[in-house]
Amino acid sequence: MAVKKITKAALTEWVGELVSKERVFGVQSKGDKFDFGPLTSAQDLRLDYDVTLQPPKKYFLPPVETLLTFEVSAGYESQYSDKPFVLIGVHPYDMIAINQIDELFKQGYYDTHYMTRRSNATIITCDVVNASENVFASQMKTATVKDGFDILLTDIGDSYIAEAATEKGEALLSKAETADASKDDLDKREKIQKDNEKNLSKHQLKCEVAELPGLLENAYNHPVWEEKAATCFACGSCNQVCPTCYCFNVQDDVKWDMKTGQRCRAWDGCMLDGFAMVAGGHDFRKKRADRFRHRLYRKAKYVPEKIGGQIACVGCGRCVSACLPDIANPVNVYNRLFDDIKTK
Ligand code: SF4
Ligand code: SF4
Repeated sequence: MAVKKITKAALTEWVGELVSKERVFGVQSKGDKFDFGPLTSAQDLRLDYDVTLQPPKKYFLPPVETLLTFEVSAGYESQYSDKPFVLIGVHPYDMIAINQIDELFKQGYYDTHYMTRRSNATIITCDVVNASENVFASQMKTATVKDGFDILLTDIGDSYIAEAATEKGEALLSKAETADASKDDLDKREKIQKDNEKNLSKHQLKCEVAELPGLLENAYNHPVWEEKAATCFACGSCNQVCPTCYCFNVQDDVKWDMKTGQRCRAWDGCMLDGFAMVAGGHDFRKKRADRFRHRLYRKAKYVPEKIGGQIACVGCGRCVSACLPDIANPVNVYNRLFDDIKTK
């Protein structure tokens, strides 16, 4: 599909047009941080951001949503969010996280609520310009992305390279004033992407990412789980900011008339007390150490077993920044296991 060059002024004009006609969400500054939010002006868009506070998964799996409404005498009605929207500024590692959740939500029970939002979205990704203080996407092989998006933007200085990957993306890009990208432009893009594949490495993994599931085979009773969990607050922040965490709880809210109500789902987190509580009050992961271990096993063993070996940590570094006692960094735990298990 088309690979175009678009000047920064033309991009601002194009985004301004989009904002005036479509529902657009994009990255904006929040003090000295950044986050996704409704975009009302092209000038507010910040494609030079380092990392957003929250990952963009909230546009596909909202923190709280109504799945259906019901009335005792009339049955139920499923509720879908069917409004199209454009999401601008998704970094490659977050796009890969969305691709992973797409795959998981298609398996077994096809999640029509998630997939409806997904098909209503036009995603414009952008290569990273400024590395965040804790990013390690290069280590997880998620610093660049090849699919899932509709348009990929790469900042090459005075302009962006804009590559449309879908018909939806091509139709959107055709509304911008662009020129064909030259070989020189494409060489610049390749250099930026190659550099990102090496340099988004604020934390160094001591083994290859593909070795992680095998490493965990022999780590179930390792002391690191108890050691790290000793200072864990069980606050769930590491779950909440993670682009690959998708666990949720479903609850029926019945109104006072005892006849009508709604079924809602809300984000849940495996680090929270009571996450694994089942009927009868049994909690099969009551200890913080068990929950801490589960989170790291889920990232590098359980989810990879479902999605062809892909590790469910994309190295965004958000959990590292969010964890007050500084124990959530997956790289530190995996390196400790590597030192103790693999190198012996
Ligand atoms: S585990 Fe941490 S670094 Fe990995 S994807 Fe989740 S939030 Fe990002
Ligand atoms: S590891 Fe850190 S962020 Fe996660 S629940 Fe424990 S204290 Fe909170």
